Amino acid sequence: MDAISYERAGDVAGAVRAAQQPGAVFIGGGTNLLDLMKGGVSRPMRLIDITHIGGLDTVATLPDGGLRIGALVRNSDAANHALVREQYPLLSQAFLSGASAQLRNMATVGGNLLQRTRCGYFYDTAFTQCNKRQPGSGCAALDGHNRTHAILGASPQCIAVNPSDMSVALAALDAVVRVSGPAGERTIPFAEFHRLPGDRPDVDTSLQAGELITAVDLPPPRFAANAHYLKVRDRASYAFALISVAAALQMDGARVQSARIALGGVAHKPWRASVAEQMLAGQTLTQDTLRQAAAAALSDARPQHDNRFKVQLAQRAIVRAVNMAAQSAGRNGGVA
Ligand code: SF4
Repeated sequence: MDAISYERAGDVAGAVRAAQQPGAVFIGGGTNLLDLMKGGVSRPMRLIDITHIGGLDTVATLPDGGLRIGALVRNSDAANHALVREQYPLLSQAFLSGASAQLRNMATVGGNLLQRTRCGYFYDTAFTQCNKRQPGSGCAALDGHNRTHAILGASPQCIAVNPSDMSVALAALDAVVRVSGPAGERTIPFAEFHRLPGDRPDVDTSLQAGELITAVDLPPPRFAANAHYLKVRDRASYAFALISVAAALQMDGARVQSARIALGGVAHKPWRASVAEQMLAGQTLTQDTLRQAAAAALSDARPQHDNRFKVQLAQRAIVRAVNMAAQSAGRNGGVA
């Protein structure tokens, strides 16, 4: 049995200081970390409990009209917060499609950002080949069961996908992650927060050692009226996405002024479908235009032997999600 020390941080500076100790990790809701520890995937020496730090559990409007969601806000509280529901219904829908009610009540926004992949070979230490768990050991998923794995942005080192629903919506909404660390505070654009695996699949994010996530900032709401989060999964709840699509539109009648589309379940990070967004911008939304944009979004797909179905599924999910977003005006209860 490994000995683990426990320390309760009183403020951000104290947490960052405590994290400088060898083998230290932050613990918030613990919904992923405790699973990893129980399975022997993660073996921290020190747990720095950040749940008693004041000021990180609030949701507040920013001077520019955007929204700051503290890193310790529980997923269920964020999903049901009036400002999130009214101004960012895409994010509320994504929160509510993740995990179970019990897990959403415990999991924090900051922890959700740091969820590790659900690749079965990563979690099962009986498999010795996993570059994410043990760099240089290989990847059992390449020749194994890879139905749920990546079709975009993977590398020969790792074909895992990011499991977070929340992060797909945050990617579409151009969120910014606020962190505090030994070198001070900084912000990370969402597109740069999660990494593709490359030759370092053991590194999931661009966080530096000892940096603590303090909040997520959302830009002023532009997509409240026309937004939809679609999650396609093997069962109706408590399942990770085979494919998910966060679609947000600014509409002028039937014409798309601008579009934001992000995909989940396809890559090591939430995947922005930028080409599809550009193809839709300025166009009247026809099914032909939409199908062409969806096909372009998957033109670089490189499926594995078990998940070729994901390419067409992702295209169809984009078409459906964008159609739902276009038709959602008034249903979301959002404001433009
Ligand atoms: Fe490990 Fe990534 Fe391969 Fe899964 S896909 S076995 S996480 S290296």
